[in-house]
Amino acid sequence: MSDTSESCPKCGSALGDVIETPTGRKLRRCSAGSWNAQTRQNEGCDYVLWMQVEPQELDEKCPKCGSALIMQVTRFGKKMKKCSAGGWDKEAKQATGCDYVEWINGTSETLDEMCPDCGAALVLFTTANGKRMKKCSTAGWDKEAKKATGCAYIQWLKPGE
Ligand SMILES: [Zn+2]
Ligand SMILES: [Zn+2]
Ligand SMILES: [Zn+2]
Repeated sequence: MSDTSESCPKCGSALGDVIETPTGRKLRRCSAGSWNAQTRQNEGCDYVLWMQVEPQELDEKCPKCGSALIMQVTRFGKKMKKCSAGGWDKEAKQATGCDYVEWINGTSETLDEMCPDCGAALVLFTTANGKRMKKCSTAGWDKEAKKATGCAYIQWLKPGE
């Protein structure tokens, strides 16, 4: 599917390699443009081709109908699990088949870094809207007492860090 000879519809330059964003979306920038992290601006040609992210079939079954679930990433980088038996009738503008959807509220990944406060491992959290932070793995939430437990260390990451 990846046609590397594709050229920019704005300036005719070749498109660059496929880049994956922290939120799992894929894009190709025009090779005549580049992102300047210092000025936070695009230099040169600003054409960006967003790629269609193919739904990924999961090893999980829909709790409603038993069909396979698929992972989908929305245009805004939010992730959800959807029933593969569900669809969208464009003409009738309504959902067809199974309507089971489960939103994913961010992901976490254990890091090879120590918490500066207590020395436990740090965990990298990605929130549902793509913000990232490092949190101490001993941190938790006591639902009954409604208060945070464990270490309170948090470090928010700037985009691109
Ligand atoms: Zn271009
Ligand atoms: Zn279903
Ligand atoms: Zn800690």
